[in-house]
Amino acid sequence: MDIEKIRNDFPMLKTKMQGHDLIYLDNGATTLKPKAVADAIYEYLTCYSGNAHRGDYDLSHTVDTAFENAREDVRRFINAKRVEEIVFTAGATDSLNMVAYGYGLTHLHEGDEIILNVAEHASNTLPWFDVAKKTGAKIVYAPLTDGCVTLEGIKSVTTDKTKIISVAIVSNVMGYVAPVKEIIKFAHEHDIIVVCDGAQSVPHHITDVIADDIDFLAFSGHKMCGPTGIGVLYGKYHLLDETSPTRYGGGSNARYKSNLEVDMKKPPYKFESGTPNIEGAIGLGAAIRYLEGIGMKDIMEREAKLRAYAIEKLKALDNITIYNENGTGAIAFNINNVFAQDGASLFNANGVAVRAGEHCAKLLDEYLGVRTTLRASFYFYNTEEEIDAFVEVCKKGDDFLD
Ligand code: PLP
Repeated sequence: MDIEKIRNDFPMLKTKMQGHDLIYLDNGATTLKPKAVADAIYEYLTCYSGNAHRGDYDLSHTVDTAFENAREDVRRFINAKRVEEIVFTAGATDSLNMVAYGYGLTHLHEGDEIILNVAEHASNTLPWFDVAKKTGAKIVYAPLTDGCVTLEGIKSVTTDKTKIISVAIVSNVMGYVAPVKEIIKFAHEHDIIVVCDGAQSVPHHITDVIADDIDFLAFSGHKMCGPTGIGVLYGKYHLLDETSPTRYGGGSNARYKSNLEVDMKKPPYKFESGTPNIEGAIGLGAAIRYLEGIGMKDIMEREAKLRAYAIEKLKALDNITIYNENGTGAIAFNINNVFAQDGASLFNANGVAVRAGEHCAKLLDEYLGVRTTLRASFYFYNTEEEIDAFVEVCKKGDDFLD
């Protein structure tokens, strides 16, 4: 991987924060965007910005082709069988809500059980809470082992009432990779549907929905070099067919009558009412082609190397507590005796962007024994030199206490 060449693709890596070169280690929140993505969006906005799936003139045809090509880019990236299984959404949160309300609300009954775990992001927790309240279903928490979701943990809480398991493939705090293939195999043997939150996995790992037999998968464009406001809900076609839309309007129906009869289109269009986020989809397609150009295998290897390097450096310090030494993604840590938000301010003053707080996983505090943590999250464009600079700031944590 030619890191210098790659870094040149990201104009923001040349910017400053607090007078320092920006060191961006908040990739779990959102990633930086390569110029290729900005260019693709700019081209749409300035050269062919018509609506999609509405016009019968050449310009419309150009837009339709670009929009549907982006859908094909997503299909290829996650190895879905059919392009109709790819629904454009506003992001992972939107996708997870669509499954919870569109599938959960109509398929769950009183007493049914939904398995979550305390490391889940609010976007994969709160929609299920609400659906549980509305249907009388029960939320059950799989225990974590060493901070990870395990098949054994899932098995230990599965009953004949379990209908849905919803799990992040990679936790945005603990950074583990859940053994989804094994979980899904077990779940399917018990007629349980598995919803995968891929917000932190799809940008960093090779995703193969066929190999893992994934039922539903949610992810966001902006965490994988794409723009904000666009995301994906993948669903096996027959499951999407059984899922109700959560929004209605133009573009999603074949016809409707004054007697309230509505004939909806087939997936994915029945979920895409209203003018879609066309530039978002085109930007996401460009992001996918950019990632493919680098190679997801190389991206995975590069990030694993960066994380191992950072862990080794952090472990050499005596003022740092690491909460997930063995994870694979983000590093959750604290500077001892320094409130996480104060720590983030210290990093900011030195040009380093890290996240502080509960990271939208507010059920984790009891497990971690601490309410807030700092989080450093890497992407392939980060460097060992940036990690060195980040570690130097960690060392300053003690001065900060004076
Ligand atoms: N799930 C996980 C694991 C996340 O980390 C995030 C965002 O941080 C989300 C879901 C929600 O993503 P978005 O805010 O893009 O909808």
